[in-house]
Amino acid sequence: MKKINIAVDGYSSCGKSTLAKALASELGYVYIDTGAMYRAVTLFSIKNNLNLNDLVLNLHKIRVSFSFNNSIQKSETLLNGENVEKEIRERKDVAEKVSGVSTIKEVRKKLVSIQKEIGKNGGVVMDGRDIGTVVFPTAELKLFITASVEIRAKRRYEELRAKGLDVSFEEVKKNLGSRDFIDSNRKEDPLRKAEDDVLIDNSHLSI
Ligand code: C5P
Repeated sequence: MKKINIAVDGYSSCGKSTLAKALASELGYVYIDTGAMYRAVTLFSIKNNLNLNDLVLNLHKIRVSFSFNNSIQKSETLLNGENVEKEIRERKDVAEKVSGVSTIKEVRKKLVSIQKEIGKNGGVVMDGRDIGTVVFPTAELKLFITASVEIRAKRRYEELRAKGLDVSFEEVKKNLGSRDFIDSNRKEDPLRKAEDDVLIDNSHLSI
């Protein structure tokens, strides 16, 4: 059977990755989390003390890839070969800076080209902000996920607390709000629902 690509876009912490992973697992497709790629580039800029201009000049030194040791639905993010999965998820400075880094045209160009290459033979479920509009505009199935900001913040807060991280609900909600604002209002490939996206509001839906 022909393998299609599935695009899953939406706001921060709306359950995109949970849905995308489950779909990939059901279909035997590869799952790709593009947010992880932007987070990895952000981590590189933090570790090397680079402002946004310097980051552009140093982009050629960055290699973002995935290792699929356990399963094709559960990748770990590699930055220049080093596994940074935990750091990109848990560091507050990454969460705070990632949306700024994601506004840079050159960063997007580099990561979008890797994403297109990964999906060129189909069989991929990819989540992010611009998958249905830019990366796979002709994907056979395109989903746009949303949920109220209160509910998203509560889910994210509980997830971070369960990992033992010291964060407050207000702090988490503020970070989501500010990322949503930057992601939706940036000039390059902003987050928006494509006309042919299927809209799913999961505020009151279980997984
Ligand atoms: O999906 P996640 O919340 O981990 O993404 C982190 C950030 O990466 C987003 O807030 C957004 O700024 C950026 N991003 C993006 N385009 C994508 C995926 C993520 O700009 N396709």
